Order: sequence, then C-alpha cells, then structure tokens
Amino acid sequence: MPFQKNHFRRALVNWYRRHGRDLPWRHTHDPYAILVSEFMLQQTQVATVLPYYNEWFRRFPDFSALARASESDVLHAWQGLGYYSRARNLHATARTIVDRHGCRFPKSIEQMRQLPGIGKYTAHAVAAFAFDQSVPIVESNAARVLARIFNLQTPIDKTAGREFLWNRAKQLVPERGAARFNSALVDLGALICLPHKPRCRICPVRKFCRATNPEILPVRKTRPRTKQLTENHAFVVRQNKILLERSGGRWRRMWILPPLKTRAPKRQPLYRSIFPFTHHRVALKVYQRRPCEIDMSSQRWIRIRSLDRMPVPSPHRRAIKYLLTAGRA
Ligand code: SF4
Repeated sequence: MPFQKNHFRRALVNWYRRHGRDLPWRHTHDPYAILVSEFMLQQTQVATVLPYYNEWFRRFPDFSALARASESDVLHAWQGLGYYSRARNLHATARTIVDRHGCRFPKSIEQMRQLPGIGKYTAHAVAAFAFDQSVPIVESNAARVLARIFNLQTPIDKTAGREFLWNRAKQLVPERGAARFNSALVDLGALICLPHKPRCRICPVRKFCRATNPEILPVRKTRPRTKQLTENHAFVVRQNKILLERSGGRWRRMWILPPLKTRAPKRQPLYRSIFPFTHHRVALKVYQRRPCEIDMSSQRWIRIRSLDRMPVPSPHRRAIKYLLTAGRA
C-alpha cells in the first residue's frame, strides 16, 4: 500500500500539538537563538543544554556580543558541555556574521554552509526553525523514527542509509509548517519511539509503521572498539596558587593540570577518575608535585580564587575541586 503522507503528517502534528515538548528555542524565530540551541544540542541531551542555553543569552545576547567576546570567555561559558570545537565554531561564525554579513544571518542554505561548523543538518535546522523553509532535518531522533517507519535495514551511518533517510524526510516535510512538522518528528523520537523500548502501543503513527522488530533498528555499522588511555598529571600548589597549563591538544587553549613529563611514580595517585572521550576511556591520575621551575611558554600560576573564571575542562575541574577541598592545598 502506498505511504499516505498527508495522513501521516496530520496524525504526527496532532499528537505534537498536545504532547510536544515546550522548549525555549521553540518560542523564537531568531536565527542566533536557533543556531546556539542547535550547536549545544549536538551530541548533548536537552536536559543538559537547558541551563547553559539560558546562561549563554545572559552573557552573549546576540551575534555582536558573541563576536566581541574573548575565546577564553566563550570556552568558559561552554565549560561542562564538552566537544569544545562547537564553541570555537560558534564564536568564529559570530565573527563572520558581523564582519562579512552586516550582522544578518543568511537565509540561503548554501551560504550558511560556508560558515564554520555548519553542516547540512544545522543549516536545515536554522532554515526550517528560523525561516520556516520547507526543508527536512535528520538528527538522531528523526533518524530512528524514519528508519523504523520504513523498516530500513541499511546502516544509517553509511552513505546509502543517510541518503535514504534524507530523501524520505524530504518527501514527508510539508510545504507550509515545516518547523512544526520537524519538531514533531524529533519529539516522537524523544518521547515515544525510544531507542530501547519504543512505546508502540501509544504511538500516534503506529498504523504507518513498517518495522517488524523496531528495537533492533536503526542498524549501525560496527563501532571501533573503545581504547583505554592513561593520562598522568601533576597537582602543584604554592601560596594560594595552582599551576595550570594551557592545553595544546584535545582541550586546545583551555587550562588543565600540567601533564607529567616523566614516567608516573610508583606510589598511588592523589586522585583518579575515568572519563569517556570519543572512542576512548581515559584514566586520569593526578600526583602531588613540589613547586619547581615552570615552563613559561604554556604554564601559569593561577590564583585559586580566580579559578572559577578560567576555562577548565570538566574532568580536570572535578579533580582540582576534589584536591583543593580535600585540604591538600
Ligand atoms: S510504532 Fe513503534 S517503532 Fe513505529 S514509529 Fe511508533 S514507536 Fe516507533
């Protein structure tokens, strides 16, 4: 039987009107606000994003304010959200909008995609939510719903699977009301078509769904195995100051505990924790070190009371907080 897309849209949008989530970025058509929400939501849950989103507007209410801010302030505001390249790209985009677009965000998807960190998904999201253009969006929730509705057996993280989803989404999106339709698709994935236990019994589009075993969908290609890493760092304090180093690697230009240049001591570390990073599981170990000569090119003595104003990645901030409050300073 052919797919009845008008009926599908109606069933989905009617459900959304009654059950959709009330999110702050859905009350605006300001492209800046939409863009900030989309950058924050990449790889991050809504509940985590909400407090950051509100605070962000207090600090950087528009493109001009963000463009004027220092990188350090931007990273500090992003601290705890992770994937800091998003913050750097958002900052670079704000500067481009001010310098080259006279503070006006472009409406053309092609122009949007010239901006730092804006790929197909983000450009379509801004076009749909800010400018109500009739374009589809496929993020993780929409991808799961569509893969199940059409019983897609191709991995969605391969080109053929991705193209299938974008094509189907394009056929379904209405001429008018694309923002509402796209939000509805996303919310169906977030609230009903859940990854592990889809709530098919109460699903508003159940009669359109072709999935025979939805829990195993969407199919993904095999992921690379998680690698174990150990990273050893030093805890060095002197007269209410702590030694930090500007990271040149993973946390580019954020402040971290200085990495140990020599082999880790045989004794137990003062602090240890484990955190995930892409395909890695990183064991962070921190050892006490005495103050000695420091590398002035990348290290600084930072006043402990100024630490809150510094951009420090969460695993290191947690370690510092523990070590300072444990009275070791
Ligand atoms: S019927 Fe089940 S699998 Fe199909 S879209 Fe609804 S919740 Fe998802």
